[in-house]
Amino acid sequence: MTVAARIATSAALLILLLVAALSYHLAVVHRLAASNRAISTHQVRLVVLTLEQLAMIDHIEESARKLAATGDPGYGEQLTNRIMTFESALRRLSSFDVADSERAAIHRLGGEWRRFLAQLPAPGDLLSGTAPAERARRLGGGLARLGDLRSAAQELVAAANQELSHQGERAESARRGSERWVLAVFAVALLSGSVAVALAIRAIQRPLRRLIEATGRIAEQSYDFELETHGEDEFARLSAAFNEMAKRLAELDEVKRNLLSHVSHELQTPLASIQESHLLLLDGLAGPLTAEQRHLLELDVASCERLGRLISNLLERSRLDAGSLSYEIAEHDLGAVARATVNEVAARAEEAGLLLVSDLPREPLLVPCDRERIGQVLRNLLDNAVKYSSAGGRIEVSLRMAPAPPAGMPEHSRAAIENNGAFVLLEVADEGPGVPAAERERIFERFYRAQRGSGGPSGVGLGLAICRDLVEAHGGAIWASANSPVGSRFQVLLPAGVPERRPAPAGALAAGEQP
Ligand code: ADP
Repeated sequence: MTVAARIATSAALLILLLVAALSYHLAVVHRLAASNRAISTHQVRLVVLTLEQLAMIDHIEESARKLAATGDPGYGEQLTNRIMTFESALRRLSSFDVADSERAAIHRLGGEWRRFLAQLPAPGDLLSGTAPAERARRLGGGLARLGDLRSAAQELVAAANQELSHQGERAESARRGSERWVLAVFAVALLSGSVAVALAIRAIQRPLRRLIEATGRIAEQSYDFELETHGEDEFARLSAAFNEMAKRLAELDEVKRNLLSHVSHELQTPLASIQESHLLLLDGLAGPLTAEQRHLLELDVASCERLGRLISNLLERSRLDAGSLSYEIAEHDLGAVARATVNEVAARAEEAGLLLVSDLPREPLLVPCDRERIGQVLRNLLDNAVKYSSAGGRIEVSLRMAPAPPAGMPEHSRAAIENNGAFVLLEVADEGPGVPAAERERIFERFYRAQRGSGGPSGVGLGLAICRDLVEAHGGAIWASANSPVGSRFQVLLPAGVPERRPAPAGALAAGEQP
């Protein structure tokens, strides 16, 4: 299923469940409203009518008694009217759609009413032509039935009231039941909707995380990975395209490395012979030189040396990448290594008008390392210090034991070192332009050069990347910081004890291993 389809399905499921819950809720509200309507119109009318009947019985008794006492035909007419009113109300009651208990009560009321009528004399028999005592006697039978009639009406009132409260209870329990149902349906909708959304998010997050990791690896120029391409969703297609891109980049990288390695190698021999011939000319082998010729030849030799350093950096890089670099680790006096390297650079620093001072320990500082490689690291750092400083600047090289990594060391460098006791700290500080804080880490990437407008010393951005590989192969760390008050300070921290065997960084071999 595609990612878009997964998101659409989970959203549709959620909407469906919520619509179902809402419809159910509406149906319940509708039912409750109908039941309330029934109570307020039908049942309440029934109760009111029944109470009116009860009152009407009193009125009928009153009219009958007045008629018997006075023999006044007006009361006879009133009695007839009231009897008709009662009967018409009784018919209306019988037409109501009522509960069984109410139906039985209405039935009984009808029966009692018929019995009462049967005992009640016709209003004409109670008129003034008959003696009052006789009228009272004739009325007596009917009045005797009034008690039963009343109790039948009261029974109906009680039944109607009871049914009213039953209906109220039924409506209340329906409300509570529907509330529970609605809550349950909403809970189910919410839960299953959340699960569906969480599944959709997970389905996106996992491949996305793998793609982010892979992008990071590509940024570090490491191509030895393959993303999973199962399934038919967009991520599977993207992963397949990503794998293809990484393969192409790896091939390009290989081509670039081979080209660099071959070109540098091919340049090395003719450059060496040019340099050699210039030196012979300078020695006067081909005859005496004018001052101008000597100056031009010396400039050529200096250019050849610069070119030679560039070529050896390119070759070193390709050896590191190809994994054909070997380390010969043994205990060496790092002070002596530093002294020798400082001496190599001293003449060039002097020519550039720079003051090169060193603070190196007099007593031997034995450190397990490959002296050539550590010498090369220091040479690169000093070359840069000379290259990026202006005349009149000061370059300082120092070496000392460090019981622990220094406080200003970046966190990631701290994580990279192998701590097995004490360390030695080698520093090269200059008063050049310094490296902007945002670029202090990037300058250790291959071919990266700090941005500082046009002009400035030439270079390819390989020296520091090589330094980092060489230092890390010794279990150490290298980083850049600011020198005070101006310039940059490069620090190299090396373990003073024997480094444990560690996986070699990109292409480098572990200590003592031969290609
Ligand atoms: P390159 O010197 O050939 O450019 P590096 O890898 O030696 O390559 O240095 C990378 C970048 O770091 C340089 O381009 C430069 O911007 C910066 N850099 C290195 N050393 C110094 C220094 N001592 N002072 C100022 N910037 C430096």
